[in-house]
Amino acid sequence: MLNIALFGPPGAGKGTQSEFLIKRYNLFYISTGNLLRKEIADKTYLGLQAKDIIASGGLVSDEIIVQIIEKTITDNSDANGFLFDGFPRTYIQAYILEGLMIKLNTSLNCLISLKVPVEESVSRLLKRGETSGRNDDNEKVIRNRLQEYYEKTLPVQHFFQERGIYHEIDGSVDIEKVNKTIQQVISSELNKRLFNVVIFGYPGSGRGSQAEFLADKYRLEYVATGKMLEQEVNNQTEIGKKIFMLYENGRLVPDETVVKLIEKKLEKHNSVRGFIFKGFPRTLVQSYILDGLLKKHDSCLSQVIELKVPTLDLINRLDARSKTTDCMPYDTSTAKIVKRLQEHEEKTVPVIEKYKQVHRVSRIDGRGSFEEVAARISAEIEKGFKTLR
Ligand code: AMP
Repeated sequence: MLNIALFGPPGAGKGTQSEFLIKRYNLFYISTGNLLRKEIADKTYLGLQAKDIIASGGLVSDEIIVQIIEKTITDNSDANGFLFDGFPRTYIQAYILEGLMIKLNTSLNCLISLKVPVEESVSRLLKRGETSGRNDDNEKVIRNRLQEYYEKTLPVQHFFQERGIYHEIDGSVDIEKVNKTIQQVISSELNKRLFNVVIFGYPGSGRGSQAEFLADKYRLEYVATGKMLEQEVNNQTEIGKKIFMLYENGRLVPDETVVKLIEKKLEKHNSVRGFIFKGFPRTLVQSYILDGLLKKHDSCLSQVIELKVPTLDLINRLDARSKTTDCMPYDTSTAKIVKRLQEHEEKTVPVIEKYKQVHRVSRIDGRGSFEEVAARISAEIEKGFKTLR
């Protein structure tokens, strides 16, 4: 989801810019002013309560705002994202927005503030008043609305400045220029968002080589836990020595050790576009761990890829590999190969099933040449990038 709030005094051009932005980014538009005017026109109970306050240029109560906005958001929870205009208008409403976003398991990406001098706002609104038919577009009420803005709404700025998602733009220049700058802000924000992929597939499905290729192609950090553990052992690090002892005693590496290594990788989150995980999560427990690890960096899983290859092909591939120099210690006998396939079936398949309930799981045909399979996965990843936008 892409969620944006347009911020600025009345007459800053929020409505005008919104018209373009909702089309460009396919967003659901939420203007609390419009929603309130509709309540008034429909003569609802909320409308009746809000009518006089709006006519005088004051702010309606947070209770009313929550009621109108909550319904709109929940009714449209499948939207690509939301564009808020005229909300949040008070410091309290900033918290309310956070709560509403949590309810949808998402967050606000940026608050874009259009800066316009007071007299410019007044003259723009007076001009609009000639045609808008709004009874609050007259000079006395306009000045009240501006006063409310500078007193009650401006503090919202600090809330989002602290969160690091506040952007200020000169709103007094021409519409196209403002528009271009807003788009630049949005694309830089989008680039900051991490694109995280998990690639699943039975041993021998080609997930490792594909993941490595995709990491390189899309500038994603490759997180292959098996490889990472192996590296620790080879480099004889502290962790590596412990892992070696566990291997020697035929014991599994505990989640704690794997998590430490992944945490180290995730520290790179500021310099990469995202992560591609292979070999993790392997169990349901690890799938919850991964959610937590990503959440720590304000991120989440973006896409799940499942590479499908028929079992007989898998056995043939693994058997063929065992006769080459690429032979892995766990590929040396048919019994070992079958055991790995069974292990995947028992532990990892339930993880994929769990993901299917919350994420888009792309099932990819893993048969054919490396290039053919890579092209299929790439097409899915590119689709995923688009939904992130
Ligand atoms: P607008 O169309 O955004 O200029 O809003 C028109 C009027 O609706 C404002 O002057 C307020 O009286 C009321 N209003 C709109 N949004 C809010 C909000 N988030 N909180 C309180 N009052 C609001």
